[in-house]
Amino acid sequence: MLKIEQLSKVYKGGKKAVDDMNLEIERGEFVAFIGTSGSGKTTAMRMINRMIEPTSGTIYLDGEDLAKKNPVALRRSIGYVIQQIGLMPHMTIRENITLVPKLLKWTKEKKDQTAERLIELVNLPQNYLDLYPLQLSGGQQQRIGVLRALAANQDIILMDEPFGALDPITRDTLQDLMKDLQQRLGKTVIFVTHDMDEAIKLADRICIMHNGQVIQFDTPDNILSNPANEFVREFIGSHRLIQEKPSAKIVDDVMIKPITITSEKSINDAIRLMVKKRVDTLFVVDGQNHLRGYIDVESLTAARHTTTSISEAMEKDVFYVQNGTKLQDSVRRILKRNLKNIPVVDEEKRLVGLVTRANIVDMVYDTIWGDEDTENDGNSNNQEQQTGADEQQN
Ligand code: ADP
Ligand code: MG
Repeated sequence: MLKIEQLSKVYKGGKKAVDDMNLEIERGEFVAFIGTSGSGKTTAMRMINRMIEPTSGTIYLDGEDLAKKNPVALRRSIGYVIQQIGLMPHMTIRENITLVPKLLKWTKEKKDQTAERLIELVNLPQNYLDLYPLQLSGGQQQRIGVLRALAANQDIILMDEPFGALDPITRDTLQDLMKDLQQRLGKTVIFVTHDMDEAIKLADRICIMHNGQVIQFDTPDNILSNPANEFVREFIGSHRLIQEKPSAKIVDDVMIKPITITSEKSINDAIRLMVKKRVDTLFVVDGQNHLRGYIDVESLTAARHTTTSISEAMEKDVFYVQNGTKLQDSVRRILKRNLKNIPVVDEEKRLVGLVTRANIVDMVYDTIWGDEDTENDGNSNNQEQQTGADEQQN
């Protein structure tokens, strides 16, 4: 849908920020531009919506030369999101979500419909639309921020380091949300980042830039297993390189059978089952095996004196992946979020398996990452982190 041909940008003063860029992006693709600071990512991205005019070269949108398109029409089809700016405190959630539609002069009815449809996608109640940001939790506000990027219903969304300033957990959560919404709504997203983990996690294809040039444009897997040159190899870091090719491994290959319980059972039943099966977590399912939540030793202890019902005691907010998900993605999530395990579900959210931290740590560390990644493990001694020798290279 987007074709970039021999695109260059030379700024006044002679700086060549983008140097003969050529690439094609398909509809519905999530593409990450990644590179060190000053490599031309922002310049390249801004030429796509003509915030910056190219010095030479052509960009085609569905076959049509962008330079010949009416800028208003262009802004209708291409959205732009800069670093996650907070919500406007004096505006309601509804007004915040529909900020761009308002600029595009949509009717009130259409704006309302959009806000109502979007808030549903992040599982917040409709009446929140009339609240002000400060009446929502921080996490809820950030989810609204992501919705705002999607509200104008543009086909292409450009995002320039939108999550750069956030703490790792919030960032991880919003990445998941963004990816989920992008897939569900079929958006084409071009996303600038300097974080390789973020690029690998989100992107269908990654465009690695250096000195204004595209060094490699390929899927995360191909980049990790076949870096184009030494620069890419360094950039992605040896701990991420895929040595052999076990990358095709999916969660289905390693998952085990989870121990489940249905929600009409009692807490005492749950405890008995845990003792009998020697597990610390039970997954709560309905009659059709749909995943509803989980209970573990902590939730049981907390609920013990207040309820005997599993549906009240269980954690409903359960993090899961779909079968077919690449193992590497799941590993990252487990480690990053410090999860004990991740249930695996099918398209209908029926529980089909469980990937545990233990079975992952055993097999994946070695096969996928080699045995190099020990510096992040919490047990390594502190003195080592004080030696500045390595840090100077950053
Ligand atoms: P990135 O987003 O990858 O950090 P940029 O696209 O912002 O890179 O910048 C690429 C290069 O162009 C950098 O060397 C930067 O200093 C230079 N540059 C960016 N904007 C301007 C400008 N308006 N005028 C002159 N040089 C610029
Ligand atoms: Mg930039």
